[in-house]
Amino acid sequence: MTGVTAPHPEWECAIRVSLIPSGGEPYLESFELPAPDPVEHWGQTYAFRGPILAAVEASSPGASGAGILVKITVRAEVSLPCSRCLRQTGLAIVGDLRYLFTLRSSHEDCPEREEGADRDGDIDVIPVDAFEAVLDLSPYVWEVLVLNLPEGALCADDCKGLCPICGKDKNEGDCGCKEDNTDPRLAVLREL
Ligand SMILES: [Zn+2]
Ligand SMILES: [Zn+2]
Repeated sequence: MTGVTAPHPEWECAIRVSLIPSGGEPYLESFELPAPDPVEHWGQTYAFRGPILAAVEASSPGASGAGILVKITVRAEVSLPCSRCLRQTGLAIVGDLRYLFTLRSSHEDCPEREEGADRDGDIDVIPVDAFEAVLDLSPYVWEVLVLNLPEGALCADDCKGLCPICGKDKNEGDCGCKEDNTDPRLAVLREL
């Protein structure tokens, strides 16, 4: 990803690998993480209102040591400028991604795993050299958060936007400018 800063330094979002049952049932844990600094993405600035909530579901579906499947669901309140009038607009976002942490050695000769990833299409395979006692998920929580930032927002469905002539917010009243609605280029398009 480009233009994305590192995760918030105070984020502590790691799970103890020994707590994940070997039978395949999921281990659940949730984290409340401090709001990060505003983020630049999609060419605009996002501010965060309140903490980031991350729910983690980790399971060990295969033979022991084969891999850890982690589903991360992130919820956050973001604030970004309205696409029409630039007023700060709050939005609740929620998104999830799945990651399969798998030993580099077992990954190479494990075609079944590859098939599974292809079939679902939405599992990111993360090869690791060894499983540490704790699995730090903060970079992945960060990734889920950033990938789910909305490309734009409207303060209201019928936001009137800014006057292209004087720049006044037309939601606050008519500025009296005479907009030329007979743009010849638009007229051509209308005829199509
Ligand atoms: Zn607006
Ligand atoms: Zn105007």
